[in-house]
Amino acid sequence: MTFHDIWQTLSWHDTQLNSHNYTAQQVQAAMAKSKLTLSDLQALLSPAAVAFLPQIADKALRLTRQRFGATVQFYAPLYLSNLCANECSYCGFSMSQKIKRKTLTVEEVEQECQALKALGIDQVLLLTGEHEHKVGMAYFRTLIPVIRRYFSSLQLEVQPLAVSEYAELRQLGVDAV
Ligand code: SF4
Repeated sequence: MTFHDIWQTLSWHDTQLNSHNYTAQQVQAAMAKSKLTLSDLQALLSPAAVAFLPQIADKALRLTRQRFGATVQFYAPLYLSNLCANECSYCGFSMSQKIKRKTLTVEEVEQECQALKALGIDQVLLLTGEHEHKVGMAYFRTLIPVIRRYFSSLQLEVQPLAVSEYAELRQLGVDAV
């Protein structure tokens, strides 16, 4: 079963209604556990959890330090395109914005990679807007193997894709989406 299959079984209307049924005791019980169920997560996101936010934040901080240590990762964003078919009110790349649109060619991407590499950057986040026709899998098949040659870690922000396309991105050299 994929994440999408499980997601489709959830009723957000019911979840929202049920969230008002959780009690402070259920929130505290969820906070005390080391492994949470879906119901525990709902308790922690319910209105009853508001009174416990400082304790929840303390536990989140403790777990983050335990699992990752006091580390900071540096990465550079690399914008491949500012084409977008979406409208997000906070974003300057939204479709209705009257800006000059640009999608990098292979040669331009290589120049960007070389410039980042010269700065000592070894981890990049590729940003693509959301335009599945002009900045979709065909574009990624060409570009990602080229970019991968320069960096040891690649992440990609991209429109929702099919499961098989995520698998293909992994084959192409993407570490995270
Ligand atoms: S680039 Fe991303 S955040 Fe900006 S409008 Fe498109 S989808 Fe929204």
